[in-house]
Order: sequence, then structure tokens, then C-alpha cells
Amino acid sequence: MSTYLDHAATTPMRPAARDAVLAQMEHVGNASSLHGAGRLTRRVVEESREAVAEALGARPSEVVFTSGGTESDNISVLGAYEAAQAKDPARDRIIISGVEHHAVLDPAMHLAKSRGARVSFVEPGECGTVQPEALRAAIEEDPGTVALVSVMWANNEVGTVQDIPAMGAICAEHGIPMHTDAVQAVGHVPVDFAAAQVDLLSASGHKFGGPMGAGVLLARRDVAIVPTSHGGGQERSLRSGTLNAAGVAGLAAALTEAVDGMTLEATRVAALRDRFLAATQQLGRDIRISGCWEQGDVTTRLPGNAHITIPGAQGDSLLYLLDAAGIECSTGSACTAGVPQPSHVLIAMGRTEEEARGSLRVSFGWTSTDADVDAVLAALPDAIDRARRAAGAA
Ligand code: PLP
Repeated sequence: MSTYLDHAATTPMRPAARDAVLAQMEHVGNASSLHGAGRLTRRVVEESREAVAEALGARPSEVVFTSGGTESDNISVLGAYEAAQAKDPARDRIIISGVEHHAVLDPAMHLAKSRGARVSFVEPGECGTVQPEALRAAIEEDPGTVALVSVMWANNEVGTVQDIPAMGAICAEHGIPMHTDAVQAVGHVPVDFAAAQVDLLSASGHKFGGPMGAGVLLARRDVAIVPTSHGGGQERSLRSGTLNAAGVAGLAAALTEAVDGMTLEATRVAALRDRFLAATQQLGRDIRISGCWEQGDVTTRLPGNAHITIPGAQGDSLLYLLDAAGIECSTGSACTAGVPQPSHVLIAMGRTEEEARGSLRVSFGWTSTDADVDAVLAALPDAIDRARRAAGAA
């Protein structure tokens, strides 16, 4: 039996979500069909929409079901940019943080290449925190040229939680649309769409115990956004295509459970994270904790995120050695065509390429236990020693 410590990549389906998926899969009916079977599916979708809205401080009419975080991010960045350009071609600047996921970074860079958009980065401090005042400064350099702002709610690599309500207020003050990638935040830390004053928010079912391939985009009714794909006009025309009713039902069931149990669960999971991080400092192997960490912190760092760097070791060697020892975790950053790249997030936080290459993300979730912490701590010293020998640094 292996020890699964990669909940930030995907977390096991909650039984309530599996039940909801299976119940809907028993049932035929396209939510757009007008007959009884279709209406029954429509009812499941609309009840799910109400549950999602309730859990995230939104109105049901603001909930758009998508296929996941990547699609929600792309619709937001590409669609809001097009709408801003249509209104005023002088608005050609996209402001994003230096720690965004590729699902935001890459559409922004695509617009730079294909449409001549100018992408401005707001860089974080060494904790990975983006200062709202730094965002204000970037906007106020030339407010009339900003098409949109996108800053993630919580970072997938190092777990830093941003002050999105403060940034939402700054964008609202300037009348600039703001998107937030809340894929890692939703279901783990409190997220209130209305209170945050953002226009667009992305979430993904499989990060909080729902099925893969089901996501959410929250879009204010008055947000200016142009559809990026075209077809049957479902979901306010922002996401044409037959609704994945089973996925939607599972997502809503998982979200309701995750949000209802969040306070207790965050404390429980953070205690596992804290025990792991504290123990890494006792291993005598110069392990450095990434980002800022305080015992019991469930507001500025994701409760389940532990990210460390290990000098003289390669993250991917550590990953394989731990996997062979039955521990499933991650380096935290993506490979490009199978080649590990130093994380742009760690580099933006001021770490060297060398440090960034020795990174390891251990992420805890709703099925994690103390036994999992014991298992990774038992395997880690030997994996580090062998990875260092492999790198010729021991
Ligand atoms: N944004 C963030 C911050 C993520 O962590 C992920 C997934 O790892 C995504 C977007 C993409 O989400 P999905 O896998 O649902 O496409």
C-alpha cells in the first residue's frame, strides 16, 4: 500500500460525490432537452448550481459549469481581454502575478504573441505573497491601458494564500475586471465571491473531492466577456456544449461537504503539515521550507501544503526514490515535454535555479492521517542521501 501525499494534484473522490455521480449516470437525459428525462437532468444541474453558489458566496446565475480549472482560466483571460479590446483598443495590458499557474500564464503569453498584448508581472515577496499595493502601483502606472488583472487565490506549489479581497477592491476602484484562479483555494480556505469583489473566479472539482473533468467559472452578470468557443449556447454562451450532469452533481456534493467541514478539517490537516515541516528541520539535512510557515496557520498558507527545497538533490530524483519507497508526492512544478524545469514560482520568490531544482511538495488532504506523516518521514532521509549521491553532491 502506498502513501498518497499529492492532494494538490488531485484528491480522492468523496463518497458523497461518487454517490451523486453514479446516481446521475443511471439516468438518461440531456439538460437541454425539453422532455421529462431532460427536465430531470436539468433539475439536478440547477440544484447543483444553487449549492455551488451557496458554498461560494455567489448567485446561482453567476455559476458557469466548465470542464475544469484550465478551461475556466482560459475563458476568463482570453474572453475578458477580447471584451476589453472591443470596448477600447487602448486597453492592451494584462496584469498577472509572477506565481500564476500555466493555465493563466500561458493564455496571457498567447495573447502577447497573437494579439500584441502587453503582460505586466507583479512579483511576490519571498513568502510568495503579492502585495496589494504592488498591484495598485502596476495598475496606476497607466490605468487606462489595463484590460484585466488576474491573481491566483492560493498557489499550487508553495501554498501561499493571497489577499484577494484587497486586490478585488483596488480593481473595483479602477473599474478594471479582475479574475482569480481559486483552484487550490476552493474547499480549503474560505472563498466568498461577492465579498472579494472579483468579476471572474475559477475552481476545479477534483481538487476538493469531486470528479475530474468538472469545473466552475463564477462570472458576475455584468462582466464584459466574449465567449472563446461557440456552439449550443449553454452556460450563458460562455461554455457551449452538453452539460456533464454527472460531473456537475459530483462537484456540487463534494463542494458542499468540503465547505461545511472546512473549519475543523483545515485545523486537522494543518496539524499534519506542521508535524511534517517541523520534523524536516530535525533531519539534519539542510532542508529549507519554501514560503512562510507558522504552526497552525490556516489563512496565509494552505492547510495541506508542505513545500521544501533540498540542496544538492534533484527534485525528480527524490520523487522517483520516494515513489519506489511507496510515497507518492510531487516536485510541485510541471515538466515541459518530460524535461523538469526549475519552478518559475520559486524563481519569482527569489530562489536560485539550483535551489528550485531540489524542490519537493508534500500535500495533505481529507484522507491524510498521522500514519502518512510517519511514512514520509521514515522514507525521506534515505531518499535525500541517495538523490544527493546521484547528483554527485554527497
Ligand atoms: N490552476 C491551479 C492553481 C491549479 O493548481 C490547477 C491544477 O493543478 C489548475 C489551474 C488546472 O486545473 P484543472 O486540472 O482542473 O484543469
